[in-house]
Amino acid sequence: MITKPLAERKLTMKNEKEATTELKLLLEDMAKRGIKIKNKANSWFKLGPRFTTTLGKTIFVPKDWDTYSDLDKLSTLVHENIHIHQYSKFTVPGFLFLYLLCFFPIGLAFFRYLFERQAYLVGYKKILEYRITAKSMLINNGVEQMCKGNYGYAWIFPKAVRKWFEKNLG
Ligand SMILES: [Zn+2]
Repeated sequence: MITKPLAERKLTMKNEKEATTELKLLLEDMAKRGIKIKNKANSWFKLGPRFTTTLGKTIFVPKDWDTYSDLDKLSTLVHENIHIHQYSKFTVPGFLFLYLLCFFPIGLAFFRYLFERQAYLVGYKKILEYRITAKSMLINNGVEQMCKGNYGYAWIFPKAVRKWFEKNLG
């Protein structure tokens, strides 16, 4: 994996305050596209109280959402934005069928793995625009998310997952 030297990355890095503006623009754009953001604390949808979940055009955020930094909100929402594109590409029933059941609900959930890895990649890239974060840490997180319990053991080949993130995180 080729990693830019930290000094070089620092020069091109955005100031974290810019995340506030970027978040505001993204929220405005989402509102225009009819996307709603609801807090799980005040919603019928309570599943996975610590996680953000997107269903169709609604993003359900965790109870402690207001304590997130703007950059954390931004990286979460760019991730969920990818799922919104996936929903519109495959339709809501199509997305859910692929996401939950294909090929198997556990271990070889190929589409869940594909959908999530694409969304995580975009979220990680957003974080790297703003923070000196070791890519290896993000990649480890990606491997863990894809291969462990949070996403129902979506994929069971950690080496392949690692390789994919290494190649695509740049
Ligand atoms: Zn996701």
